[in-house]
Amino acid sequence: MSKLYTASELEKMLSNGESLANLPADAKYTPMARDILRREKVTPSKSPSSSSAGMPSSGKLPRIHEPVLPNYEYNWKLGGDPKSASELQRFFYSKEIQQLKERMCHIGRRIWEKGYVDGNGGNITIRVGDNLVLCTPTLISKGFMTPDDICMVDLEGNQVAGTRPRTSEVNTHLGIMRRVPEAKSCVHAHPVYATAFAVSGVTPPSCLIPEPEVFLGEIGLAKYETPGTPEMSDKVGELAPKHQSILMQNHGVICWGKDVEDAYWKMENTDAFCQTVVVSRSLGGVKQYTPDKLIDLIEIRKKLGMPDHRMDELRECELCDAGEYTISNTPQPTDCGCGGTSSSCACELEEKKQTDADTEALVQKITDIIMQKLS
Ligand SMILES: [Zn+2]
Repeated sequence: MSKLYTASELEKMLSNGESLANLPADAKYTPMARDILRREKVTPSKSPSSSSAGMPSSGKLPRIHEPVLPNYEYNWKLGGDPKSASELQRFFYSKEIQQLKERMCHIGRRIWEKGYVDGNGGNITIRVGDNLVLCTPTLISKGFMTPDDICMVDLEGNQVAGTRPRTSEVNTHLGIMRRVPEAKSCVHAHPVYATAFAVSGVTPPSCLIPEPEVFLGEIGLAKYETPGTPEMSDKVGELAPKHQSILMQNHGVICWGKDVEDAYWKMENTDAFCQTVVVSRSLGGVKQYTPDKLIDLIEIRKKLGMPDHRMDELRECELCDAGEYTISNTPQPTDCGCGGTSSSCACELEEKKQTDADTEALVQKITDIIMQKLS
C-alpha cells in the first residue's frame, strides 16, 4: 500500500536535510503536504492514485484555490469512540484525524482569503465520532491555523483533546449536529453580503437563480441570540433539519454539509447568491421565474439525494414567496389582477377562484330556498 505523507512529515524531512525529490513514486499526500511540494517546487513522478477520490487525476497537482470534490466525509464506527485518555490521545493524533485537521486549516485559509472572516471570526467543525467533534480554537485567525491548533470536543461542548481552548461558538455547530446526523461538518463565517441580509433580518427570495435552489435549498433565518449560548444553539439547531444554510440574525452565516468541503461550498453559494440579489437590485429590478420552474429544480435537488420540505408544506403558488426580502419597487413579470405569473398573483387568483365558487354556491342555495317557498 502506498504511503500517505502529511505536511508535518515533509517539514520534518526538510529540517533533517532530506530531499523531497526522492519520495516514492506512488506516494500520496494530504492537501497541506501538497502545498509544501508546490512551495518547494517538487513534482511527484506519479499522480495520486484513484483511491484519493475527488482529487484531479490529470497528473498535475491542484492549485491551492482549485475546488476539490467533497470526499472527506469521516465514517466512524458506531459505538467505537475512544474512551480512555490514552485512546483519545492516540485517536486525536492518528493519521486520519491529522489529515482532517489539515483540511480544516485549508478551509480556514479559504474562508479568510475570500474575505468571509475578519480578525478571529468564524469557526469550523468536523464530526469524527458518536460523541466527538474536531473544532477550531478561539482567538485565532482562520487563515493561519496549523493542525496543532485544532481541538476536539464532545457533543456537549466539553473539550477532550487539543492544547488550545475551543471556540465558544462550537455550541451552535453542536446544536445542528445533535439534531441532524447527516451534518458531518459545519462552517460558520461572516461573509459581507449574506451577513448584511442577516443584519436586515431577511433571507433572499426564491425563484431567482437555479443553482442555490438545487444546492442550498431554502435559506433559513435564526432570530438573534448571544453567540455561543444554549439559546443560540437551539435557535439554529431547530432550523437545521430544513435548512443547510442558516442566516444568524445580526451575526453571520452557518452552513452544514456531509463533509467540510461541502459545508464550505454552501457558504460560497450563500454569499454569492446574496451578492447577486444586491447587485441585480441596483440594476433596476429583481425578476422571479414562476413557481412551476422551481418545482423542476426541487425535483433535481431530490434526485441528488437532498431532501426539501417546501413541496410538502407549501402550495405551488407560495413557492416563490419564501424569503422576507421585499421585492418592492422592482418590476415583477406581471402585476396582480390579471392572472399573471408572479407567485403572489397566482395565489390571489387561486383564492379568488375559491371565493367565486363559494359565492356561486351561496347564491344557488338562496335561489333554491326562494323557489321552494314560491312553489
Ligand atoms: Zn460568529
